[in-house]
Amino acid sequence: MKAIIIDGYVDEPACFGVPPYISPYIRYIAGALRENGFQEENIHYFTIDDLRKDLDYAPRLIRRADITIVLSGMTVPGKYLRSTPINLGEIQSIFSATNGIKVLGGPIRLGFSLEGGKAAQSNLTDSTDACICSKDIEAFVADITGKNTESPEDVEHRFRSVEEIRRWSNKGSFIIKKHPDYPNVMCEIETYRGCGRKHHCSFCTEPSYGESDYRPIMDVVSEVSELYKNGARFFRIGRQPDILSYQAKDKGGNTPEPDPEAILSLYRGIRNVAPELKVLHMDNANPGTIANYPELSREILKTIVKYHTPGDIAALGMESADPEVVRANGLKAFQDEIFEAISIINEIGRNRGANGMPELLPGINIVHGLMGESKKTFQLNYEFLKRVFDSDLLLRRINIRQVMAFPGTRIYGNDELVKKHKQLFLKYKEMIRRDIDMPMLKKIIPSGTILRDVMCELNSDKLCFGRQMGSYPLLIGIPANQKIGEYIDVTVTRHGHRSITGVPYPLKINTAPISLIQELPGIGKKQATKIYKKLPFENEEDFMNKTSKEELLKYIDLS
Ligand code: SF4
Repeated sequence: MKAIIIDGYVDEPACFGVPPYISPYIRYIAGALRENGFQEENIHYFTIDDLRKDLDYAPRLIRRADITIVLSGMTVPGKYLRSTPINLGEIQSIFSATNGIKVLGGPIRLGFSLEGGKAAQSNLTDSTDACICSKDIEAFVADITGKNTESPEDVEHRFRSVEEIRRWSNKGSFIIKKHPDYPNVMCEIETYRGCGRKHHCSFCTEPSYGESDYRPIMDVVSEVSELYKNGARFFRIGRQPDILSYQAKDKGGNTPEPDPEAILSLYRGIRNVAPELKVLHMDNANPGTIANYPELSREILKTIVKYHTPGDIAALGMESADPEVVRANGLKAFQDEIFEAISIINEIGRNRGANGMPELLPGINIVHGLMGESKKTFQLNYEFLKRVFDSDLLLRRINIRQVMAFPGTRIYGNDELVKKHKQLFLKYKEMIRRDIDMPMLKKIIPSGTILRDVMCELNSDKLCFGRQMGSYPLLIGIPANQKIGEYIDVTVTRHGHRSITGVPYPLKINTAPISLIQELPGIGKKQATKIYKKLPFENEEDFMNKTSKEELLKYIDLS
């Protein structure tokens, strides 16, 4: 029996699976297939980007496969450095090439759209003749391959249990070795899904999973252990709506009470089974949890900073600073509470870590097009961000998007404000990028900061784009092509709105192109030309005699 898994990528508020990330769904599907007797060598895995380049091997496998599984779903689509999510035409052509069982699932079950600000298309049956999993794709794959089922129509659509993903996550961890970026693959780890709040945000799809179904700590640790044995070194605890609420207790309020002991056991357990891990990051944190339980949250954040790796981000879903919008959409917190959450994370996480980035900083998510939004909302959001900046608090990233309305959410059919405020939205976004993002980046990583372990990912013309592995990594442009896949250290030289420019550290000045020399801190084109003409330099003394640029010595290598 042969199976093909095509990774069309997922991007949800509480789960990411675009390279270098691999989502848990892929690993669970592979584990379910293994459990039902498929051999590892007969479970093939391709990302959609790889499939586009492969005109021979993968299409042949698809033609002969007994089951072809496509995972897809962008509920919060973004722009990706070197990946393009699957589109409906591609899904159709993959399925039309096979006579085996065809399965389509993942967050696409909620609807399909590649762009924020547009309602998701809900009727996928018009686009493909595959079985579309209306619940969990991994459960469907397990049932259709394991229960002597006559036809896919007989398979009940259901959610998987925590016990099932304990088995499947371990059995499926081998699949990361088939990821095109392996071993530089970031494993998104699930601790729970579903929202523990009693009242839910109008736009959010997470409540469709029901109440929080916390995985036992040992299950998560054992999964990390299996992944580690298979070569994984990069982990993000990203598949949950709020890491602080992992194993939280319902005490009757709208927000459950956090359990610092549980987070300590989780992080300590992960470190024990993966001692040489290179990245351990987190994703979402509910600012309402931090504001409601400041002391418990401080304890948890200290644990995270003790056991994680630096450059970590707690993405806070503010959505809106406008109290009218907060009330109309049942959002998590009002702006003063968000401000307090930002202050607490800064208090614990803003020190610079070994990789050059602060240990842990907050990020902010803002959503427009929500009910109750007015022109004033834009002004209030801008003023809130200005207040944060003027208070010398750091925000590592500001994510601004327009709502994508999904069937089953309260906002569905109520998102007419997206179109009404489109021009205002674009203008205000530009203002935030200019007035907040760029000056904030200058504060977080001033020119001259050394960033460690930047992976060179893409050469384009005379530029190389690289990033550190991690949660929402900063994009770094290096003005000369580099070896793809190599890790280098980088000196920060300039700041863009949401990215920076840098040069390899230390810069081997005797062989460096002039495009890199002129990027060194404090050096312009003219100075660079003068230095370039005096190459090579024998040693420090020779360099000083010829240039008098003592301040450059700390960034260059004269060997
Ligand atoms: S708090 Fe709101 S945004 Fe977060 S998971 Fe719950 S419903 Fe979704």
